[in-house]
Amino acid sequence: MKLPDKKGYFGEFGGKFVPETLCWCLKELENAYFRVKKDKRFVKEIDFYLREYAGRPTPLYFAKRLSKYLGIKVYLKREDLLHTGAHKINNTLGQVLLAKYMDKRRIIAETGAGQHGVATATVATLFGFKCDIYMGEEDIKRQKMNVFRMKTLGARVCPVRSGSKTLKDACNEAIRDWVTNVKDTYYLLGSVVGPHPYPLIVRDFQSVIGREAKYQILKKEGRLPDYLVACVGGGSNAIGLFHPFFKDKKVKFIGVEAGGLGLSSFNAASLVKGSIGILHGAKSFVLQDKFGQIENTHSVAPGLDYPRVGPEHAFYKKIGRAMYATVNDNQALEGFKLLSELEGIIPALEPAHAIYYLKEIAKRKKNSLVILCLSGRGDKDLEIVRKWGS
Ligand SMILES: *Cc1c(COP(=O)(O)O)cnc(C)c1O
Repeated sequence: MKLPDKKGYFGEFGGKFVPETLCWCLKELENAYFRVKKDKRFVKEIDFYLREYAGRPTPLYFAKRLSKYLGIKVYLKREDLLHTGAHKINNTLGQVLLAKYMDKRRIIAETGAGQHGVATATVATLFGFKCDIYMGEEDIKRQKMNVFRMKTLGARVCPVRSGSKTLKDACNEAIRDWVTNVKDTYYLLGSVVGPHPYPLIVRDFQSVIGREAKYQILKKEGRLPDYLVACVGGGSNAIGLFHPFFKDKKVKFIGVEAGGLGLSSFNAASLVKGSIGILHGAKSFVLQDKFGQIENTHSVAPGLDYPRVGPEHAFYKKIGRAMYATVNDNQALEGFKLLSELEGIIPALEPAHAIYYLKEIAKRKKNSLVILCLSGRGDKDLEIVRKWGS
């Protein structure tokens, strides 16, 4: 079985639910991607940038004191050590190179919290491309540092004043731009979401996480792990870790979503609390009310504050290949402190959710062998944590 199939479906999920005008853009992208995927120059070039610019391979680090504390064996896949401080660069580097091979010299993207915008501005500058980042006016106000980062990198930040002035509206603007300027413009999507072929493209570029981890754990432990654990916003760092282990049936996958304040009506847990629906061009699990209106999300972690999750996760859930759980804001903060104080590693608030969940795994089975995707470093979140509860 090939996933996704030719039409971009993972079982019943995924696909391409878009207007006619967008179909052409997506088809051009799909054709180009399947072409360059087999091009040895492309593969070589991406390897080069991942190694020399981003800092791959990242270590698979045995967290000795955390392991002792929990009574399980924990390895951290150190995506936090990459350039720009998170896994997002794996994807943006891959796609900017794809843009180059498609002869498109202008990159656009939308961003909510600003992290994807920063990772996009970074690689656009690396290749000397023009870069426009759409961002809701509300988000611009809330994320001043990331706006400044993008501008420092030479990108233009385009404020979006329609609707709720947040990510959803920024996304609509970016698509409008793409359809109008597709001749020279590449639309760089940030997670394993959206219409086909994006979930496939982003998964392929992020799978370097799981490929390396598999090689590294076999070298260090001589066996595959019992569990893979990762946080899930759109789902790209988790799919990147999980996908290369898909056929290793004994390896259990656990995706950890943001449970927000711990109230059922105020969270960002699309898989655990959401229902099947169509959002941004694909069928998946979304947070919606009984009328199909998309619900507002809340999470302390900016990168998890998101009402949708990629179709491949929806499929893994449906067939029982992965299990999904929620961790709330307070618990995530506990995970944040745990890693900081035991290992001298300050995690981003997103993977702090996954760190907390290790306690649940420890309750279930002592001495399990676990790989956790440490998707990013915590410098960006220090202000949130400092102000916590005050
Ligand atoms: C953006 C981000 C996430 C969430 O995105 P996914 O696509 O679910 O991986 C998680 N961790 C960090 C550090 C991020 O920056």
